Amino acid sequence: MNSAQALDVTPTPLALLLLGRGSDPASERGVDCPGDLPAPSDPDLVERARAAKAALGDRLFVLGHHYQRDEVIQFADVTGDSFKLARDAAARPQAEYIVFCGVHFMAESADILTTEAQRVVLPDLAAGCSMADMATAEQVAEAWDVLTDAGVAGRTVPVTYMNSSADIKAFTGRNGGTVCTSSNARRALEWAFEQAGEDGKVLFLPDQHLGRNTAVRELGMGLDDCVVYNPHKPGGGLTADQLRRARMILWRGHCSVHGRFSLDSVDEVRARVPGVNVLVHPECRHEVVAAADHVGSTEHIIATLDAAPAGSKWAVGTELNLVRRLAARYADQGKEIVFLDRTVCFCSTMNRIDLPHLVWSLESLAAGKVVNRIQVDPVTAHDAALALDRMLALP
Ligand code: SF4
Repeated sequence: MNSAQALDVTPTPLALLLLGRGSDPASERGVDCPGDLPAPSDPDLVERARAAKAALGDRLFVLGHHYQRDEVIQFADVTGDSFKLARDAAARPQAEYIVFCGVHFMAESADILTTEAQRVVLPDLAAGCSMADMATAEQVAEAWDVLTDAGVAGRTVPVTYMNSSADIKAFTGRNGGTVCTSSNARRALEWAFEQAGEDGKVLFLPDQHLGRNTAVRELGMGLDDCVVYNPHKPGGGLTADQLRRARMILWRGHCSVHGRFSLDSVDEVRARVPGVNVLVHPECRHEVVAAADHVGSTEHIIATLDAAPAGSKWAVGTELNLVRRLAARYADQGKEIVFLDRTVCFCSTMNRIDLPHLVWSLESLAAGKVVNRIQVDPVTAHDAALALDRMLALP
């Protein structure tokens, strides 16, 4: 891999559905929200959400991803990263309705892991994930054909990040692979290389940065062991020889939030805040991760800040809603927490879930109407569950 590939963060060609309007059936983000939403200026929104939640009682379980807005997270029964939330949902079989305040792929995983009787609701169908959209089922099937033609598919095990559509998880399950999270990516890769055997390879989907950072930082590989498969180029932009020599075949996807942090962000914050500890998520680019003091998943970031001594200073490279909440939570313990970059960096798709959408979905459920249900078809769910179950069985 050359340095141009490592730095390549060209945005997805799919347009974002700004403001939750418009339709993009080719993406995992879904379509227009069909609801008759309350006005954002309605002063009774908080009270309405409380009342609807109380009316639903134990029939309702509200999940809130760490990157959600404060106005939404206050109504979450549990908060967490995508995997923790899917597991929390599965552990609540008595809850008839799971309202997932997160993005589309998370609601799909919750649907796969919960019972037939449970209904998973995403308050705004346009809340997707630009990273998940960077790998479609057709593109990945075509890539597998390319690997087959190069004679390497038989010794390649797919590993997909949790942040992928149910279709991609199903592809991974059908082809002997596993899902991973940012917490267990190392174990998932070690397992996958064991399965792949001698001269084995991993096809890592869809986040090139998590794949590269884990392979290089945690498995001791060189950057030259990694190649980037570009689905927008014939043959992925790679020769058969490059595919044969590579150990990690990284899909050319990235997170539009974490991909924004740069080496300049790290240098600038070190100059601005003397003694600062730089703590970043492994979805950041490799040079950012290499320049940081600490690297870890969202849950790791929270645990690190929780254990940090009073008086310590931290610059955190992850989504801004979470960093702001952590800064407020630990301010009175004398911990100074700043955002890694000077520019605002919310996840725009996560932010589509707002109080009007939450109120609308809760009131609809309380009135007996299931709206914005996320339902994965049984065949896809079965194959995706194979990959999810392999992850759950990782040592
Ligand atoms: S933060 Fe990145 S990976 Fe997470 S939902 Fe937003 S775009 Fe997707």
